[in-house]
Amino acid sequence: MRDAKENVHVNVNLQQLFAESSLDLKPETEARLRELQQKGLDLDALINEFLDKREAEISTEKAELADLPAKSRYIPVRVKRLIAAEYGHKCAAPGCRREAKDLHHTARYSLTKRHDPHFLAPLCSGHHEIAHSVDVKVQHWRQS
Ligand SMILES: [Zn+2]
Ligand SMILES: [Zn+2]
Repeated sequence: MRDAKENVHVNVNLQQLFAESSLDLKPETEARLRELQQKGLDLDALINEFLDKREAEISTEKAELADLPAKSRYIPVRVKRLIAAEYGHKCAAPGCRREAKDLHHTARYSLTKRHDPHFLAPLCSGHHEIAHSVDVKVQHWRQS
């Protein structure tokens, strides 16, 4: 009896998960994909190939921008665009779905003088505040 109840609970959660993860594709896009599938092409392989290529392009550009000496505290547009391509416009904190408000330097800019995209994270205001309060604590701890 108890198991049956737990199963119902799991099913409900799965349904929520599917509802949340349904892909937001235009009918035209779905039609194009269906056409390829009907031709016998492996859609899963094609999409994975595309995703791998995208990730490779992002990491190549990240490496290119990593050592660029910063001209000022302002993050260059190219770096901002790359971060947006990688993260979209949501906060990078795990599980957070809020809109990102700021680009946070995870390695202190005053020390690195770089806008290395490997050390930039888009954060919502809440997580940005947390990131800085942790940073202040660490600094205090290092000085004392
Ligand atoms: Zn910050
Ligand atoms: Zn957040």
